[in-house]
Amino acid sequence: MKNAFLSILITASLTLYSEEHKDMEQNSEQLVKIQMVRGDEMCLSQMLPIVQCSFSPSKYEEILLSQLRNTQSSTKQFRKVSEKIGDLLVNKVIECLPTKTVEIETPITKCLGTALVSKVEFVSIMRSGDALLETFLKHFPEANVSKFLIQRDERTAKPQFKYMKISPELTFGNHVVITEPMIATGGTLDMVISMLKAKGVKEENIIVASICVAPEGLILLNDKFPKIKVVMTALDEKLNERKFIVPGIGDFGDRYFGTGEQQADVVN
Ligand code: URA
Repeated sequence: MKNAFLSILITASLTLYSEEHKDMEQNSEQLVKIQMVRGDEMCLSQMLPIVQCSFSPSKYEEILLSQLRNTQSSTKQFRKVSEKIGDLLVNKVIECLPTKTVEIETPITKCLGTALVSKVEFVSIMRSGDALLETFLKHFPEANVSKFLIQRDERTAKPQFKYMKISPELTFGNHVVITEPMIATGGTLDMVISMLKAKGVKEENIIVASICVAPEGLILLNDKFPKIKVVMTALDEKLNERKFIVPGIGDFGDRYFGTGEQQADVVN
């Protein structure tokens, strides 16, 4: 009896291990393919259909991103530039939302205009999600905000759930926009999206807005949640061994909130 139980346990562990291994192999194959077709919009959007915008930043986005990446930018400059990039991301999110034609009256005449069909709910993943959230709330001042605190274990880079506070209207069928400036492994978003779905949010209603994205994270999200939408400013090269995005921005939260060790601040 004991032996039979042991053998079932070993078989189950081996199956789990080999499935996990197969997933990892598939992901690294996909990663190589993505590196090879970098710059080819058509190939990239076929491989990663959850992405709803261009994979390459515009010239203006390139300029802003360079300022954001630069370690010489002060906290004040970093915040200003994040806000400008955030404004451009709002535009990309709105492209994903359904609109309707409405009758309006200008001071000159009646004409047809455009309005969003429904309200938008926001989910911010603290801390860095709050930085992007501020910009989005300028454009959606009435929106409800749900918050998650998921901390990355510095040693394993695995996400750990700490806290959430959910809007009572989150599952009313509205679109839910998650603000997450950096998608690295995708582990934090995996946890948050799974929890949102468990609460009743439809996968197809979820839009993730991000500034800087690693292909590893996009592959994971594309495989696990094929119905979500992702908009972003830049697809970077890869993750380093500490799971930071390369070339990346560094620790977004630290740079935005001025809590990093080497802040290049100037007195103003
Ligand atoms: N989070 C960050 O702030 N930066 C990274 O490079 C990865 C995750």
